[in-house]
Amino acid sequence: MSCQFTQAVGQLSIQIRLLIVETLISHQLTIFLVSRPSLLMCAFAVIVTLACASCVTASPRTGTTSTFALTSIPRKLPISKTPRTCNVSHLPIFTLVHQADIFTIYGVEADQQAVLDVAEVLQEQAIQVNHALGYDYRDPITVEIFPDQESLDQYGMNPDMKGYYAYSGNHLIQMVSPRKPTIHQEIDYSQRVGIAVHEYVHLVNNVINPTMPPWLNEGVAIYMGPHELYAYVCQNIFPFEQIPPFRELEQSYDSVPAADLFAYALVDFIIHEYGQENLNLLIRNPDRLEVILGTARSEFERHWREYMKLHYIER
Ligand SMILES: [Zn+2]
Repeated sequence: MSCQFTQAVGQLSIQIRLLIVETLISHQLTIFLVSRPSLLMCAFAVIVTLACASCVTASPRTGTTSTFALTSIPRKLPISKTPRTCNVSHLPIFTLVHQADIFTIYGVEADQQAVLDVAEVLQEQAIQVNHALGYDYRDPITVEIFPDQESLDQYGMNPDMKGYYAYSGNHLIQMVSPRKPTIHQEIDYSQRVGIAVHEYVHLVNNVINPTMPPWLNEGVAIYMGPHELYAYVCQNIFPFEQIPPFRELEQSYDSVPAADLFAYALVDFIIHEYGQENLNLLIRNPDRLEVILGTARSEFERHWREYMKLHYIER
């Protein structure tokens, strides 16, 4: 999605500036929930969830993952327990093509409904995203819906991001068919369709500011895409003891545990306390945070922590 960026932007090995944004289903968030059985049932009830828990912008050869992980949980977990070495999938034949506004969506025969559903959600929500971000994105976008995870892993544009449900870059979104359940059964069809919107936000972000810092790029994509799971965690089981210094999110996003959750929390805070207009200014000039928000960085961070204490619930 998702997905996660500054160093991520553009691969210099190719002429075209290519920003790959991957979306990873909330693998470690699920582990976190599973480790708390009493929360699990509630969580699953609410987990109509985000499908794009964690997204990183990464160059094609340096895939990185921001995760929702407790410090006691290894940060680099396999995306799937299924050995991939035996998977040999056929090159998908995209017999379906559907044009919807700027989106050209390709899919295999079995994905007729999925193609229509992805087209519909993109057409509908792209307008809202453009409006919110104050940018009239009109470039053509190709969406390729792969029939399964194996085929995306094998034929997607980023071979280093095996196991990721979707990613995007260079006017292209590639995703697994929402018809196929993820390894997390609780993520329902509509949320899987919605992953396309998360990736769309990344594409718009990347045009507005190709060097947008990862925390901001990811936070905005999560906030504007499906984010029920993040909202649920904030409202029920927020890990206050894991809140990282803002500086760490800025400087070493990929190594911060649960970075995507805190990126979401930052954007939530900025929108509610400073407004969408200021967020949009920040997206365009992230280095001018103090001027745009009219506050010293230390004050900004203190205020953010207070906001979380006031609005989120400890687990
Ligand atoms: Zn993302």
